[in-house]
Amino acid sequence: MKNIKLASRETVQHTIVNVSGVEVGRDFVVIAGPCSVESEKQTLETAYAVKAAGADMLRGGAFKPRTSPYAFQGLGLQGLKILAKARRETGLPIVTEVIDPRDVSWVAEFADVLQIGTRNMQNFSLLKEVGRAGRPALLKRGMYSTLEEWLNCAEYILSEGNPNVILCERGIRTFEKYTRNTLDLSAVPAIKELSHLPIVIDPTHSTGRTSLIGPMSMAAVAAGADGLLIEVHHQPESALCDADQALTPDVFTSIMRRLKPLKSFLDQLPVSSPVL
Ligand code: PEP
Ligand code: MN
Repeated sequence: MKNIKLASRETVQHTIVNVSGVEVGRDFVVIAGPCSVESEKQTLETAYAVKAAGADMLRGGAFKPRTSPYAFQGLGLQGLKILAKARRETGLPIVTEVIDPRDVSWVAEFADVLQIGTRNMQNFSLLKEVGRAGRPALLKRGMYSTLEEWLNCAEYILSEGNPNVILCERGIRTFEKYTRNTLDLSAVPAIKELSHLPIVIDPTHSTGRTSLIGPMSMAAVAAGADGLLIEVHHQPESALCDADQALTPDVFTSIMRRLKPLKSFLDQLPVSSPVL
């Protein structure tokens, strides 16, 4: 991939993105929380629950890129203030989405990680602003994008001087309708071949089905992902956004209990020799 320079493994072997003490690329990192920040109660209850289950960071959208202009668009500044309170109370770093280049610098004052969503992966002015924001970025794969296009977008952020990019595979559009998207787990070892950037898996938006999130989380660990991004809501049935795919804290906790032993087991196995 000739235009992939700073994101290429030929430049650097391995990147660890330090998010307020959480080391993505060294530890297996779980980012969990609601799709959107709806209220202080909802966010704090969910934050405490995911922390108790062992999550490393809290996610929650204050700006939501919605398919319909009439759907809930997020609480904006008020949502960011709620996230700041959740961080103060739980100590969890905050991952939140930014959708407009004009908002990047002030959203960065609230966020530990700036998320760029699938619909904005190729919003080049947004990528450049995030490249100058002085905060780690979580770059989701565009739902119609190739690995090369995705890495070119990471390159936009890196080339503006921000070395802290985390990639997130969240499923791509295929002809399959049973799942919301198709999770491309082969992206994990493929990205590891091509790039030094850490990659996390989002089993929530890729499957859109709560019953599939546990199995695909386990598969992500086995594929060598650096972490997971999972939607959890303290009362999924009342969620204003992505209600069908949010886990209850209890189900999230049961998945978390299975992940750590699997990771430890896999870490003990002999390293497989590369297939040439
Ligand atoms: C989200 O993380 O809530 C989100 C909108 O994800 P995506 O951009 O992957 O659809
Ligand atoms: Mn969502």
